[in-house]
Amino acid sequence: MAIDRQAYQQIAVELQANGVILVAVSKTKPASDILELYSLGQRDFGENYVQELVDKAAQLPKDIRWHFIGHLQSNKVKYIAPFVHLIHGVDSLKLLKEINKQAAKHNRIIDVLLQVHIAQEETKFGFDAYELQELLQTQSAELQELSGVRVCGLMGMASFSDNTELVRSEFHQLRSLFEQHRSRTADNIQLTILSMGMSGDYKMAIEEGSTLVRIGSLLFGSRN
Ligand SMILES: *Cc1c(COP(=O)(O)O)cnc(C)c1O
Repeated sequence: MAIDRQAYQQIAVELQANGVILVAVSKTKPASDILELYSLGQRDFGENYVQELVDKAAQLPKDIRWHFIGHLQSNKVKYIAPFVHLIHGVDSLKLLKEINKQAAKHNRIIDVLLQVHIAQEETKFGFDAYELQELLQTQSAELQELSGVRVCGLMGMASFSDNTELVRSEFHQLRSLFEQHRSRTADNIQLTILSMGMSGDYKMAIEEGSTLVRIGSLLFGSRN
């Protein structure tokens, strides 16, 4: 048996008690693993690569809610636009415009999260605090014209570090930005989801106010 059923049940109960959504991150794992978790009731799954997501969605049950959690290139939006449930890693106005365009082609409104750069590592993507403010305030009119996208919240990844105080402060920082911008509502802007926390740090993320965690290796085992 490939997945850790016991871990799943335990985490699912724990998250439910806190009202936190679980996205099971299935990247690199076979469709059979996803089906196994699906049979236990899991419906939200997260993938990082467009081709892999498209392939899996084609062969798995249609009521799965697919979350795209990787770095999305504009030229690949069209492949996931027909069915994606939530795009987590949106990091530019240009990408929002492309999602809007593709959503219109499929007569959909696509839900997205804005990725915020909270970690110390340079390699991670996302808006910094200033750019986020600029998008939601200065460029707000332009954003509101994009009726094919709905900005539902923020997403972030903490530093990959054993320094728990550092990780906690990064989550805290993201939560503060979330609270700070929550009052900026419009037809297509309603920040209700705070996507933060992975296998190694989800408990801390929940303590710091996460409403959605993305957990892979604890459920599916480690990746190569
Ligand atoms: C891979 C990945 C996860 C899951 O990581 P685990 O440590 O296996 O839980 C969560 N979020 C993002 C953005 C990822 O790329």
